[in-house]
Amino acid sequence: MTEANKSLNFLEHLIEEDLANGYSKSELRFRFPPEPNGYLHIGHAASICLNFGLGETYNAPVNLRFDDTNPEKEEQEYVDAIKKDIQWLGFKWDKECYSSDYFQQLYDWAILLIEKGLAYVDPQSSEEMAKQKGTPTKAGINSPYRDRPIAENLALFAQMKNGELEEGSCVLRAKIDMASNNMLMRDPIVYRILKKAHHRTANDWNIYPMYDWAHGESDYIEKISHSLCTLEFKPHRELYDWFLDQIYSEGMRPKQREFARRNLSYTIMSKRKLLRLVEDGIVSGWDDPRMPTISGLRRRGYSPAAIRKFSDLAGISKRDNVTDVALLEFCAREDLNKTTNRVMAVLDPLKVVITNYPEGEEEWLDAENNPENETAGSRKVPFGREIYIEKEDFREEANRKYFRLKLGKEVRLKNGYIIQADSCEKDGEGNITQVNCTYDPLSKSGSNTPESLRKVKGTLHWVSAKHAIETEVRVYDRLFLDEAPDAHAEKDFMEFINPKSLETVKALVEPSLKDAKKGEQFQFQRLGYFCVDTDSSPNHPIFNKTVGLRDNWAKKNK
Ligand code: ATP
Ligand code: MG
Repeated sequence: MTEANKSLNFLEHLIEEDLANGYSKSELRFRFPPEPNGYLHIGHAASICLNFGLGETYNAPVNLRFDDTNPEKEEQEYVDAIKKDIQWLGFKWDKECYSSDYFQQLYDWAILLIEKGLAYVDPQSSEEMAKQKGTPTKAGINSPYRDRPIAENLALFAQMKNGELEEGSCVLRAKIDMASNNMLMRDPIVYRILKKAHHRTANDWNIYPMYDWAHGESDYIEKISHSLCTLEFKPHRELYDWFLDQIYSEGMRPKQREFARRNLSYTIMSKRKLLRLVEDGIVSGWDDPRMPTISGLRRRGYSPAAIRKFSDLAGISKRDNVTDVALLEFCAREDLNKTTNRVMAVLDPLKVVITNYPEGEEEWLDAENNPENETAGSRKVPFGREIYIEKEDFREEANRKYFRLKLGKEVRLKNGYIIQADSCEKDGEGNITQVNCTYDPLSKSGSNTPESLRKVKGTLHWVSAKHAIETEVRVYDRLFLDEAPDAHAEKDFMEFINPKSLETVKALVEPSLKDAKKGEQFQFQRLGYFCVDTDSSPNHPIFNKTVGLRDNWAKKNK
């Protein structure tokens, strides 16, 4: 698709409309507003790609705004991780902003609210306030403190700020409408007392603004034109606008608009729940390759291009929906197919002895690195009398549809010769321990002899026994066994953890992989895509399986 005929999503239509109605392009400004209370996940990537994508489309600045109004859960570690992930995805923010930078301004505006008679200090317990709130079909009742004199409210609010009042002893509430159809408009809390050190403002503040008060006002301070958030904030829009009405004086008046969250099958997407997986040791950390976090996907071997492609294909929608994780895997595969070199590794080795190959001899065969990319060149792989193949690639007997190795039949060894299985050896329990084969010395791949051009149905990957290096390979399965682990009313998502989501395998790989660097990616032929894990040490690569060559999840679980 070219840029010109690419269809616009509904938010782009909205922006086009605004432009047609008098906004100038130079006024457009967006923001991505993460709360630094966890690592970014693939759902955040949707919002990042949306906001920064709009920035690219309209050549407009995009701020990175840390929505840091809750010191209980926020940490510098998360700020750093979030910045790293956005940069890694390939996006550049204009300004790095923090809601906490606006604490003074927000406080001053709260005083303005009080002075206008639009906010009051309420000392009731949260239970009492909840009782007065009413229900969606029944109006609430006014707090007995609602008409407290302005001067008293100002004095109490100053005491709240100065730390003279206990946590939980009172809150500042906006005076709106206890009979509103929108429950959020029934005198919402604007400030609460929290005597917690903040990761940036330390102990400067004893009160912290609520999300609704902080968000729209921060958008206004930053001159954001379109404040895009997920659907659950739709009912908050009325309050967003009401708060802006009270303080707006001039310039860009931000608009909140909503889009559907990205949900992905077989995983969860809430930072709070992901934190539980980390704290309970279900995973090794936020960047465990099974996590749906950006850092987990990176460690797993997903590229920024694959994640951006996924966000693009999954699109932005108006209604809640679940995206099949198979689409994400498809994007990884498409990308890795083009970019990775092919190598040979055997995850479940079975020894093969080529009885007519001279003992003590070896040769180095030409192997193409990537048939999808001519410039990728070739390498040499060693071959000798003893090799390993996958256990599942040999059977004593099998039907005609089995194109791998079986007694009396031939297969081609990738980059090598045609071999035929003559006999096999077994241990006391009947397990096959070795296959004895003969090879056709004239059948070498690429040698152009009539023997080498002979059609043989199966081709197997293999490694030379003498040269192979033993490495650890981590093979992952879905972290959850259920398609929507957190959508069950009576069951906790933890009940659906897949106990076999990680299998650690001692594998044999071709010697060219000895010097593979952390993060380097390969296609292990016939097995899938793998990357070198960050736990690797020099000369001892550890591989993560990124994704298989085909989608066999659906098949396997029929
Ligand atoms: P979580 O519940 O995972 O903590 P959150 O919405 O509280 O998510 P924030 O850090 O507040 O996380 O989110 C930053 C931005 O990313 C917000 O604009 C939010 O709407 C958006 N976002 C968060 N999760 C998703 C998602 N699953 N799909 C699309 N956008 C998302
Ligand atoms: Mg949030």
